[in-house]
Amino acid sequence: MTTRRLYYDDSFQDNFTAEVLSCQPMADPLAGQESSCWGVLLDQTQLYPTSGGQPNDLGKLGDANVVDVRDLENDEVLHVVDRPVRTGRIDGCIDWPRRFDHMQQHTGQHLLSAVFAERFGLPTVSFHLGQSVSTIDLRGPQPTPEILEGAARAANAIVFEDREISIRYGTAEQFAKMGVRKQVERAGTLRAIEIAGIDFQPCGGTHVRRTGQIGTILLRGCSKIRQDWRVEFLCGHRAEAAARKDADLIARVSAELKCATADLEAAVDRLLGEREGSARNLKALLPKLADLEATTRLLSAVALPDGSRAVAEVLHGVPPEYLPHYATALVRSENVVALLALAETGALLFAQHPQAGRDMNRLLQKVLDELGGKGGGSRDFARGALSDPAKAAAAIELATSQLDQNRSATRA
Ligand SMILES: [Zn+2]
Repeated sequence: MTTRRLYYDDSFQDNFTAEVLSCQPMADPLAGQESSCWGVLLDQTQLYPTSGGQPNDLGKLGDANVVDVRDLENDEVLHVVDRPVRTGRIDGCIDWPRRFDHMQQHTGQHLLSAVFAERFGLPTVSFHLGQSVSTIDLRGPQPTPEILEGAARAANAIVFEDREISIRYGTAEQFAKMGVRKQVERAGTLRAIEIAGIDFQPCGGTHVRRTGQIGTILLRGCSKIRQDWRVEFLCGHRAEAAARKDADLIARVSAELKCATADLEAAVDRLLGEREGSARNLKALLPKLADLEATTRLLSAVALPDGSRAVAEVLHGVPPEYLPHYATALVRSENVVALLALAETGALLFAQHPQAGRDMNRLLQKVLDELGGKGGGSRDFARGALSDPAKAAAAIELATSQLDQNRSATRA
């Protein structure tokens, strides 16, 4: 039996009375558990089921909480509740703030779509009302920033004109004669929403009564989705909340940068410039510092039986890009083998002067096989990273212990 939809004629009623026709336990996904929700059919309802891009209402039926509302075939509305209800008369109510929010976003969508189509030749091909942001997908050439601003201004102007929004009923034929925006091929009586002088389109959703109730419309961005352009927008309370959040963010960041909000852009530019300069200075200093440290460090290199010298070290608190500079500086000296690790990241770098006669890549593979990680390189220069940075010291110890073996293996 068709459920009578009370919101069709009046979307502003937040409570209603209805007849419970049936209440059935619904299949529970966890087998063997007792049902935790029930499906209720009513003779009439004020609760909106998910459809046409608009999410369902929430609310109560008697003491039961309505957790979902679904559109069934044959025009029935299924109310999913968290406890069983008795058949007979029942009082219902809807979560009004949620519903009104949906009404603002949904009516705002009608208006925006109309403006994009009428003034900029960009028809809407789909609409989604999300939990935090809503979107329309426009078809046609990319909307320029000027078009986006123009559409937002035009839509808001109509909001401020507080135009009337009416519910119309008629057949598809009648609607076609009245200049409906979207043709519908459905028999019987259809419902359409008219925004005076700008839009007339078939819709079964819930809407506000006048454009003023939509509140301010804020466009928040445009991105390409397949062949269409997805425009994000917020209406009414959502627009106000977003503007407040943005203002808070700007105030916090300005306080952090110790500047007036009006000077924020210049402060960020200055900061980025300084950062670039610091990075440049660091880049220039790293090889010099590496040369200096290598010279000192080589004085305490360990002499190996075959006459080569080893520097084995776990470095702390240096940037990763320091490692190759340091290694290169060390192995510039004859017969030096450098086994280096970074404590913080577990990065490994094994390098040698060509005459040191070992195989750094093989040595690295041996360490990585044993301690976990990945990497690779050549006979004289190999880099890798341990899966667990805490094993950096163990890795250097292991590599050092393998140096004699590594040499004989290379010769063999
Ligand atoms: Zn609608």
